Amino acid sequence: MTGYPTLLSPLDLGFTTLRNRVVMGSMHTGLEDSPRDTGKLAEYFAERSRGGVGLIVTGGYAPNRTGWLKPFASKMTTRAEAARHREVTAAVHEGGGKIAMQLLHAGRYAYHPLSVSASSIKAPINPFRPRALSSRGVRALIDDFARSAELARQAGYDGVEIMGSEGYLINQFLAPRTNKRTDEWGGSPENRRRLAVEVVRRTRAAVGADFIIVYRLSMAELVPDGQTWDEIVTLGQEVEAAGATIINTGIGWHEARVPTIVTSVPRAAFTSITAAFRPHVSIPVVTSNRINMPQVAEEVLTRGDADLVSMARPFLADPDWVRKAAEDRADEINTCIACNQACLDHIFVNKKASCMVNPRAARETELVLLPARRAKRVAVVGAGPAGLSAAVTLGSRGHAVDLFEAASEIGGQFDIARRIPGKEEFAETIRYYTRQLALTGVKVHLGRRAGAEDLAEYDEVVLATGVRPRVPSIPGIDHPSVLSYVDVVRHGAPVGARVAIIGAGGIGVDVAEFLTHAPGPWAAEWGVGADGSLGVPAPVASPREVYLVQRKEGPIGNTLGKTTGWVHRAALKAKGVHRISGAAYVRIDDEGLHIEVGGEARVLAVDTVVVCAGQESSRELVEELAGAGRAPHVIGGADVAAELDAKRAIDQGTRLAARI
Ligand code: NAP
Ligand code: SF4
Repeated sequence: MTGYPTLLSPLDLGFTTLRNRVVMGSMHTGLEDSPRDTGKLAEYFAERSRGGVGLIVTGGYAPNRTGWLKPFASKMTTRAEAARHREVTAAVHEGGGKIAMQLLHAGRYAYHPLSVSASSIKAPINPFRPRALSSRGVRALIDDFARSAELARQAGYDGVEIMGSEGYLINQFLAPRTNKRTDEWGGSPENRRRLAVEVVRRTRAAVGADFIIVYRLSMAELVPDGQTWDEIVTLGQEVEAAGATIINTGIGWHEARVPTIVTSVPRAAFTSITAAFRPHVSIPVVTSNRINMPQVAEEVLTRGDADLVSMARPFLADPDWVRKAAEDRADEINTCIACNQACLDHIFVNKKASCMVNPRAARETELVLLPARRAKRVAVVGAGPAGLSAAVTLGSRGHAVDLFEAASEIGGQFDIARRIPGKEEFAETIRYYTRQLALTGVKVHLGRRAGAEDLAEYDEVVLATGVRPRVPSIPGIDHPSVLSYVDVVRHGAPVGARVAIIGAGGIGVDVAEFLTHAPGPWAAEWGVGADGSLGVPAPVASPREVYLVQRKEGPIGNTLGKTTGWVHRAALKAKGVHRISGAAYVRIDDEGLHIEVGGEARVLAVDTVVVCAGQESSRELVEELAGAGRAPHVIGGADVAAELDAKRAIDQGTRLAARI
């Protein structure tokens, strides 16, 4: 008996049975796009199948060339393509899981000039204007979907998922926002639904009765002129009648200005929408979005919100998620913290996805962790993300590791991040490492600033001593009103009602959110109704007046991640944060912060100035050891402070530890 009896119970689909209620949702990694990567893709999925996932859904494959996400992206259109997939499906089946291929036509989200849509209306997030499909073109497209599904079956897949949400082509036909047609594929709701329903009907006819068809249905559009709730429900009923086996939940178009998956979205924030939909159909329904731990998944299912739970990014973070849940070892799960830094932010700049907290994700054949050939005594200095990843990886390979940390707790910069409202998930990574340190036998020495003399006896020394906040040379920087972000966020130093923040990088923006935060319901802040409808955002007013200042010209926050930056910028705007670019710092005194902007002098009459001006490496020990003729390994912020991020730190720590 496990702590998650519903989540781990099998689901009988009549012609086949899923071993549990866990779906690994579709997530494009970039390994789909080149035949050269088929072996890597097979191992990536195989690890998750061995880890216990019930049903895996692949990244999106286009049913024809116009549906490519980008030029020469993944598609399923020929027997030769299908044959290559046998390696993938066989590897998954060997692990005991099942796998469905997602069929996705990008429509007007296609990043190439061949793109098509219901009508010739450009998406706000894509420079390419689509061509409106002719009526014959729509019929040919339906044939293409059915043919791709047939090929997927030949390739050994257990099913397909038809992508009907997130604003892709089928969704573009469904919504009046993008469908202005006057033929049988547009106009009335029934006509707009015709493509979706016909794709399912023809796919069922092509693949036979004993093949899974998941239809991913947009249950909340979160854009103006989307489908109404009644239309969404009717679509679900028609899709069921047309032959779908399972309905999956899609939340929000990619162009929606409501966050749906970033870390500040509360866990399981949208499952109530699946719950409202579920009674209207009789086939199993999957829910999704910001579910990352077994307890949350179990609660969602026992509450009756859905029959299955889909998680995509949590399986990048931990391939053994299900096995750990089944063995009541949830505290060992490497939790997805919804940062997007190494997954979606990579995909949007055409890089292969991985995971910030698990650099092995989608690198399974390359970053292999073998037992050490000779166990060594290794000292790791610094228990931030770099030091922690190095220490646990070394320990897992059989080395005897001592971890020294000057602070009274582990975590480094993550211990600061977890205190920012909306970034509480970072605490999960600290919990994960705490458990892994114990499991891998790493001896942890907290409150211990290691010196060269402490490190003399070790075979190898890894320095991950991190960074310290940069103190800019501004006259008055030692004025009593000046605090560093560490004082404010970690040590809770009192902050006045009017505040200026020097530096608007990732930490400056975080501090602005920290200082303007006031508790309130998340959905109301973003204007999301209980049924997923879009209303007027009602943010809770900030308790402080905050100025966020940078020297460079251009908008504040444009160095932040592609998929998360806009959420932070919108949050700052909603809280009335004054954003000042192109500033020169003149001095700080009793009047406040004196700056010059465009040649004009200004005084920001504030009570507190918080410095977030980047970091400098802490390298004293590096120099000390070098002086003693030692050659330590230097990683993380101690190696390079500029543009340090945890993704680089964890990757560097893991890769070094894999080599020692
Ligand atoms: P950062 O992103 O490099 O920003 C430091 C800021 O300080 C810059 O915006 C810079 O802007 C300013 N600055 C630099 N030298 C200065 C000086 N001498 N005097 C005054 N201002 C100066 O560093 P961070 O904010 O400390 O963040 C550290 C890392 O963590 C970054 O890689 C960041 O991306 C990551 N992080 C990301 C997030 C997120 O994505 N939400 C959150 C936290 C941290 P000007 O030179 O224009 O003034
Ligand atoms: Fe989750 Fe961040 Fe890893 Fe993406 S990079 S899977 S969001 S932890």
